[in-house]
Amino acid sequence: LTDRMGVHEVPYTTFFETKPIDARFPLVREPEKCVNCLRCVSTCQKVQALGVWDLVDSGSRAHVDAVAPDDCAFCGQCIANCPTGALHERDDTERVFDAIFDPDTITIAQVAPAVRSSWAELLDLGGKPPTPGRMVAAIRRLGFDYVFDTDFAADVTIMEEASELIEHLKEGAEGPMFTSCCPGWVRFAKTRYPELAKKLSTTKSPQQIFGALAKTYYAEILGVDPAKIFVVSYMPCVAKKMEAAYPGMDSTGTGPDVDAVLSVRELTRQLRQRFVNVDLLEEEDFDRPLGVATGAGHIFGVTGGVMEAALRTAYNFVTGENPDADAFHEIRSEGPERGWREKGFQLPDRTLRIAVASGLANADALCRAIERGEASYDFVEVMACPGGCVGGGGQPIIEGFNLS
Ligand code: SF4
Repeated sequence: LTDRMGVHEVPYTTFFETKPIDARFPLVREPEKCVNCLRCVSTCQKVQALGVWDLVDSGSRAHVDAVAPDDCAFCGQCIANCPTGALHERDDTERVFDAIFDPDTITIAQVAPAVRSSWAELLDLGGKPPTPGRMVAAIRRLGFDYVFDTDFAADVTIMEEASELIEHLKEGAEGPMFTSCCPGWVRFAKTRYPELAKKLSTTKSPQQIFGALAKTYYAEILGVDPAKIFVVSYMPCVAKKMEAAYPGMDSTGTGPDVDAVLSVRELTRQLRQRFVNVDLLEEEDFDRPLGVATGAGHIFGVTGGVMEAALRTAYNFVTGENPDADAFHEIRSEGPERGWREKGFQLPDRTLRIAVASGLANADALCRAIERGEASYDFVEVMACPGGCVGGGGQPIIEGFNLS
């Protein structure tokens, strides 16, 4: 599988651009809806340590003039904190419906781990639990030919990343290896900390691994031309819209590996537009074989999950055994209040120094500490959104509740 997904050819993060952004920019601003509360600016600066807003001083107070996207990480936290809907992600739902209604196109949905935690937040299930099985049934009712689980690809990601970590340690490479599965973080690292960005894992994110496998491995199973397959990702994320559009994310030469990325908000709109009666749905399974996954893939959706999954796997690769079930208690628990968690993890021959950060302001502090030599680690996980993808910028917006 790893040969097909192209992870060894060119480091994955090579494709993340640091230049100004073109029409693929996934954020939309409607100035007429803006009430100048500046929550977007505050979130961007304080929670994410960015500052991508052009402000104009209009006398008594500043107001937002435009988004200046050069430094934007596409995390979408500004959207999640906008009370009027003046900010939103680019709407890609029509493109997806066009593909679904085209009889010559095979449509494949993949669903990210954090979507199962939130997909029904704004839907009425009549008291039924919002299980992953009901989520699969709901997405299938939209008309997809196949509904698969991004967790399958998260498992592949972790096999790659754990192998890379072991190599990194064997080579005695200087400095930590950083995770690369969050496109918001990768973009931030490449624009702010280009030296540290050289230490990003070369492994693709689960979304992109899935897209590549769908258009190579699964196209072969189906015996079809990959150009006939249209892959849609349901993500808690806005940055993934940009990630899918980067040049190079085309394993078959027939077009992007992932054709469209929809947020959980767009999924909610689709279900309403198609009058899917979610309260009547019984549970259904993901399709196979790309719908089977382990717990390692499931926990990608929350801060520390990628770290735990990678360490579990690395431990197994080194010792041939699974680590004790309690081995990660320490890693899961809160760490010293430095804005990030730092722990030790025991491999047979050494103690790994690890750190986990979520929210780019925390990542910024962590990177500064590493650059100044005030902190030193072997392996670092960073997720751009507070709490990880469960707090992603593409999640449902619920009045009065926001992780950031
Ligand atoms: Fe996307 Fe998750 Fe990264 Fe947020 S933390 S930018 S939701 S991948």
